[in-house]
Amino acid sequence: MDDLQYGTRDKRGNWAPNGRLEIAPFWTGKWNRMGKFLIGYFWPWNAFHMAVTLLYWHFILPDWEVMKTLSWDWALRLYLVNCAGIFVMYGAIEFFYYWKRVQGTRFKYNPKFPGDAPSDVFWFKSQNIDNVLRSFLWGIVMWTVVEVLMLWCFANGWVAWVNWSEHPVWLAVLLLLTPAIHEVNFFVIHRLIHTPVLYKWIHSIHHNSINPSPWSSLSMHPVETFLYHGVVWWHLVLPSNPLIALFQLHMAGYGAVNGHIGFEKLELGGERTLDSHAYAHYLHHKYFEVNYGGDGLIPLDKWFGYWHDGSKEADEQMKERFRRKKERLKAKAQAE
Ligand SMILES: [Zn+2]
Ligand SMILES: [Zn+2]
Repeated sequence: MDDLQYGTRDKRGNWAPNGRLEIAPFWTGKWNRMGKFLIGYFWPWNAFHMAVTLLYWHFILPDWEVMKTLSWDWALRLYLVNCAGIFVMYGAIEFFYYWKRVQGTRFKYNPKFPGDAPSDVFWFKSQNIDNVLRSFLWGIVMWTVVEVLMLWCFANGWVAWVNWSEHPVWLAVLLLLTPAIHEVNFFVIHRLIHTPVLYKWIHSIHHNSINPSPWSSLSMHPVETFLYHGVVWWHLVLPSNPLIALFQLHMAGYGAVNGHIGFEKLELGGERTLDSHAYAHYLHHKYFEVNYGGDGLIPLDKWFGYWHDGSKEADEQMKERFRRKKERLKAKAQAE
């Protein structure tokens, strides 16, 4: 496919999509775009997360009687399943698009591949090894800790377990809202760990990957990954159902890959492609202080002035914001 029909490539080889990132059309009254937006809301990513959730529900989760008691036995099993799932899903994208490079750099924002650029900031000087180890050693561990605690609370009846037969409308609404909950939660914790002290202590690890690949997705400090997967706590506070809570968790765990795919589209053969929804978060990795949230479903970035839609104007606004910040810091330093 010709990626230049969909975007432009600068002299350094950086590819950018045509047009701008748009927040969800119902915020801007662009009702004619609702059809496309709604399809993207469900297909393919959230449908995938739901399919995986149903697989867990029917084949992986132990009996609720078993989950009343915390034990290494079922916790470890869940950890291994989560590891296997991530290994297959993230690993497949890495294998075909980063190792085999089946589509070269077509639709790739940054023309470089992390595997070609050894750097001292990473363990063993390798972004891939560093990111894989951090993901499996504690990224997925903390995910599993959150998962086990959530299931344990539901199993013991300590939180409201709403039944589908009794309140189908409320649960359907809650299910539809899960991407919004994800985005709000992510924005809040993400903005928090961008404050200077927490950034240095916690979040800088994730940002070592300026040119992220799928393995970067869960490569975080343990505190960050605990907070990130803690989006599930919303379902212990709101009247919910463990199936929806698990879906919410998978949207975080398996869905973390979206922002880190590095390609606008993955070519699937012929004219078929898969949209990654990666650009907003790619810009976050590139510029650090923009796009703390997601795709603009709940456009907190826009409301707080952090939104970068990929345009030249947004670039100017960002630079102006950085300049003002620098001046503020300078004035503060002089005052002291
Ligand atoms: Zn990231
Ligand atoms: Zn960040």
